[in-house]
Amino acid sequence: MCFVDATNILMCQYAGVTTDDVKEMIKDKASEHGFVLCRIASLSIDHKHKQGLKRWIDADMQADMAWMSEQVRMQRRMQPESMLEGVQSVISVAMPYSPPAYLLDEANDAKGQGVISAYAHGDDYHDVMKKYLKALAADLDVMLGKHDQRVFVDTAPVLEHALAESSGLGWQGKHSLTIHRDLGSWFLLGEIFTTASIEKDEAAKNHCGSCSACIDVCPTQAIVAPYVVDARLCISYLTIEFDGFIPRPLRIMMGNRIYGCDDCQLVCPWNQHASKGSLRLHDLQTGEDSIKPRGENHLPNLASLLRLDDDGFRQLFRKSPIKRTKRAGLLRNVCIAMGNSGKTLFVDDLLSVIADKEPLIRGHAAWALGCLSSANSHQRISLVLHQQLTVETDAGVCEEIDLTIEYLRSKYDDA
Ligand code: SF4
Ligand code: SF4
Repeated sequence: MCFVDATNILMCQYAGVTTDDVKEMIKDKASEHGFVLCRIASLSIDHKHKQGLKRWIDADMQADMAWMSEQVRMQRRMQPESMLEGVQSVISVAMPYSPPAYLLDEANDAKGQGVISAYAHGDDYHDVMKKYLKALAADLDVMLGKHDQRVFVDTAPVLEHALAESSGLGWQGKHSLTIHRDLGSWFLLGEIFTTASIEKDEAAKNHCGSCSACIDVCPTQAIVAPYVVDARLCISYLTIEFDGFIPRPLRIMMGNRIYGCDDCQLVCPWNQHASKGSLRLHDLQTGEDSIKPRGENHLPNLASLLRLDDDGFRQLFRKSPIKRTKRAGLLRNVCIAMGNSGKTLFVDDLLSVIADKEPLIRGHAAWALGCLSSANSHQRISLVLHQQLTVETDAGVCEEIDLTIEYLRSKYDDA
């Protein structure tokens, strides 16, 4: 067993056990809990990450995520030592997930179906990872003796990619995610902050080189410069975090992505050889995948999703990260995917939600109806939209309906 002495230096009671041995023991233990990578990070955030964050916030690229720019949280991000009194070390870990084969194998054109970001196909990783991190932390309690520790998964003000890079776990790619030379970027990060002093690992070197594949492929040009993602343009932000009317020019670029976007990861050369679905989350405690993909999240039928009421939504996405959007956000995204599908058979589905209780759904349904209108359906659509306008109270929805009516008028000469 190892312990922390009065000066917080990690000691081992067995003669001949070196600090390298201790690190190996920690990493072995992390592996037992499903973490494929485990490295010891630096406690100080690199200047380039601090400057990058500051410039990003100054340019308002955090969009509506007000918590990102709160002063206290900014300070905490810049100073990891503020997250735990007496913290000496940060253990950075990665848990992989499996990108579905259809994303890897072919250009997705399943237009009647929705695409969900690979990490969100199973249970909510926040819950899953936290469970495993806590189990690992409990083991470290035994291994390292008396010390304090805190575990974090994404939600706290922790610059996880900067910490991971400083630990050598991987480098932050131009798309802003962490990449490992062998594993690519299909993994999620977590951290254990501990008062035990563990020698840090060597930082990772950047291997993006002259590549710009992620920048070039981004459907909305959200990677406005290497390492800078403007959340206001990013489909991941728009479909998950943003709870308003999605700017009209961006809707078309969303295609059939209804929750998140993986395009910048899919195109990354470091992911090409990393896995063709071979990387599985291994849950060594149960022998099953920790974040097992759920069948219903594999290219879900758009019409079925649009029929979900509150109870149906809650039931279907219980314990799933998708619940974050609430029904209104997800069905908004479904309306957009329908509008982009070119499938006129969705017209009836969209008409059926034009008086839905959620303004977001009514407004985006109106937009999608304009997209799918045809010589056969435009009069019916126009009639329903005019009727809705007589009772509509939401200004945003009124604007969407007005714009669609105007569009139909100009396209079909509707009265
Ligand atoms: S997640 Fe999609 S929209 Fe966002 S930066 Fe990557 S490719 Fe662009
Ligand atoms: S696609 Fe190229 S530039 Fe982008 S993260 Fe991967 S290696 Fe770096």
